[in-house]
Amino acid sequence: MSAVETIHVDGVWRAAASGAQREVLDPADATVLAEVSEGGSDDTDAAVAAARRAFDGGAGPWPCTPVAERAALLRRVADLLQRDREPLALIESRDTGKTLEEGRVDVDDVTNAFRYFADQILAEGGGRVVDAGSPDVHSVVVHEPVGVCALITPWNYPLLQASWKIAPALAAGNTFVVKPSEVTPLSTVYLMRLLGEAGLPAGVGNLVTGAGDPVGARLTEHPDVDLVSFTGGLASGTKVMQAAAPSVKKVALELGGKNPNVVFADACATEEDFDTAVDQALNAAFIHSGQVCSAGSRLIIEEPVRDRFVAELARRAERIKLGRGTEPGVECGPLVSAQQLVKVEAYVASALAEGAALRCGGKRPEPNAVRPADGYFYAPTVLDLCHGAMTVVREETFGPILTVETFHTEDEAVALANDTEYGLAGAVWTKDAGRARRVAGRLRHGTVWINDYHPYLPQAEWGGFGKSGIGRELGPSGLAEYREAKHVYQNLDPKPVRWFAG
Ligand code: NAD
Repeated sequence: MSAVETIHVDGVWRAAASGAQREVLDPADATVLAEVSEGGSDDTDAAVAAARRAFDGGAGPWPCTPVAERAALLRRVADLLQRDREPLALIESRDTGKTLEEGRVDVDDVTNAFRYFADQILAEGGGRVVDAGSPDVHSVVVHEPVGVCALITPWNYPLLQASWKIAPALAAGNTFVVKPSEVTPLSTVYLMRLLGEAGLPAGVGNLVTGAGDPVGARLTEHPDVDLVSFTGGLASGTKVMQAAAPSVKKVALELGGKNPNVVFADACATEEDFDTAVDQALNAAFIHSGQVCSAGSRLIIEEPVRDRFVAELARRAERIKLGRGTEPGVECGPLVSAQQLVKVEAYVASALAEGAALRCGGKRPEPNAVRPADGYFYAPTVLDLCHGAMTVVREETFGPILTVETFHTEDEAVALANDTEYGLAGAVWTKDAGRARRVAGRLRHGTVWINDYHPYLPQAEWGGFGKSGIGRELGPSGLAEYREAKHVYQNLDPKPVRWFAG
């Protein structure tokens, strides 16, 4: 049997130097979906060396490529993503467990991201002229690529997270080594093939499949890596920052969230309003089985509507159709791994021990025709009577668990919403426009939705306050992450300064 070759270095697909391979499991039934090369430190070093050569010199270094060429390449990638929308959506669905339709949405979103960054670099001029206060001085600030970028991604949105990093990194003229999660590496392997087909020169984009340690850890400490952009959990993000410190790399972190969905009673004034607010709360918490960094996992609701709202939420959550993401009619897939399932069960157990009231879920569902017994399924769970001291309210569960906290005043709502070490995203639901703006202004979160939940735009920054991370993806700041500003000051009429008399 020939070795699996999912490591991409200097334009060549290869197996791990050690020959090691890893099985990738289908979370819907725990069978082996594919095998990938299990890269090690030596594979990582080879990938970094290739990215270094492609950045520094060789046959036409990538940073010197004309902007129009880089933009054209990104647009070709976007076109190829659309051409392969169905196979990519299928891979993403089978690898992560999400539904096929969610996979399609992801492909469309990343297509937009590639197009957005192409448009961005084409729209820019050649630097910002600064008034130096003298006609004999020409002073300009230009932006240059940072260098070799290590791009490390998690398992919940593998294609999307890789694209949010690869598109701006290439647009800005960097070279990169991407390391997808070992749990869901398949769509990143596919994306690398598309980049090659679009004409990305050898060495500019490299991929190492493998574990966080050694591959991610080696990338983070590597002296030839200039920037690490990491999306993942708080614990790993902390390690990344520590490992990057000795070489003073630039570090961008997109970490977890414990996101409040604040619902005022007036958002439920009519039956239609009520239905919308409940429906969106359901979507906020349970899409992709809650394995979303911005999941609205904390419902913070005004007391007068609490009981009715929670009862309706629980009724609808119980009816969510769980199953293999590729099956027609399925609305929610499994959790990504056995480890994740055990973690979610432990969070529910701790919540009940700490006094939460179970309104629905709290168990693995019965197997059926679309839900194999060995899949990592967990029923959408609503926990009422929660408060900020509970573990389930404080920690990111990354599962289909919605906690309910109650408030009586606007100040109390804001205080509860901000009572988290994270600060990624949150929403406020109200008919009162003034209150909506007031509360949105006081929320310490990187994204605030008013009367909506989850939409994001490639033109708008994404990232977190507090322990949700450092830096931003998407939008102008998402491109700026991958750039150094350089001030070029040109004296057109040099004279002695005579600071020293002698
Ligand atoms: P994780 O931290 O376990 O792993 C993320 C990536 O880091 C993986 O590729 C992993 O192999 C690698 N890694 C692990 N240890 C490492 C180390 N010491 N050095 C370098 N790399 C290392 O996270 P996960 O479980 O894959 O993903 C879930 C987490 O990702 C959640 O906390 C979620 O909130 C977060 N996330 C955040 C965003 C965002 O935009 N803020 C988006 C998606 C996911």
